[in-house]
Amino acid sequence: MFQNNQDTTLDHLDVLLGDVTKEVIINYIGMLSMVTIRQFCDVVDEEIEQWDCTANTKTRVKRFRDYSKLFVSTDNVLANARRELICPIILTYPEHPIPVPCCGRIYECVELFQHLEIQTNELGPNELGPTCPTCKSLLTKSVCVANHTALKNLIALLKPNE
Ligand SMILES: [Zn+2]
Repeated sequence: MFQNNQDTTLDHLDVLLGDVTKEVIINYIGMLSMVTIRQFCDVVDEEIEQWDCTANTKTRVKRFRDYSKLFVSTDNVLANARRELICPIILTYPEHPIPVPCCGRIYECVELFQHLEIQTNELGPNELGPTCPTCKSLLTKSVCVANHTALKNLIALLKPNE
């Protein structure tokens, strides 16, 4: 499990950081292996707003920064619990959480299914099927069971107020 360490650099965060978002962060902040999570948390919204990228990318950067904040939080138990509940695709709390059997991560159902569908449509000749965005294991919709009321309630309880 990830240890809470303020000097840990951004490349240690096990999240799916899309290529575009990654490139923008590298451009404006620095190489992910050189920037500490603490430094990244200090980047304010106003600064990100100045960046030359789409509104969508700005939102992703902000979400990634908020996600990073969970790693430097002093409230360890709560921060750890919150971190576990974040969907690696949308980088925030899923409204319709769905755990996957491969690595046990929780995803936003709609986003995960969309990811699997896109992958299925773009399968190369040597690929067996769509894969999990986090651990890259083969993954199909049918193995994801749809009703997770307890998990949904837990997220609603632990999610910080915005
Ligand atoms: Zn997985």
